[in-house]
Amino acid sequence: MTTNQPPVQRCQYCGSNDLGLGWQHGEAIVTFKKHGLGGSRLHSLICRRCRAVLYQWVTEPHKFPPVSNCTTNQR
Ligand SMILES: [Zn+2]
Repeated sequence: MTTNQPPVQRCQYCGSNDLGLGWQHGEAIVTFKKHGLGGSRLHSLICRRCRAVLYQWVTEPHKFPPVSNCTTNQR
């Protein structure tokens, strides 16, 4: 098993294993800052049968600060 392997192999809704992998760019980018540039591209794993979005993940999770740091800085 590689590290790039998504943890979902089968649709949890309809049971199909006919899944599709998508990329989201541009306006759908997930940023780790409230404003400004910088973000990580978003992968989407979708079911080609019932069109459900099964799983989403980012390519560079290390860019995102831990939640504990965010709450400390903002409160
Ligand atoms: Zn499905």
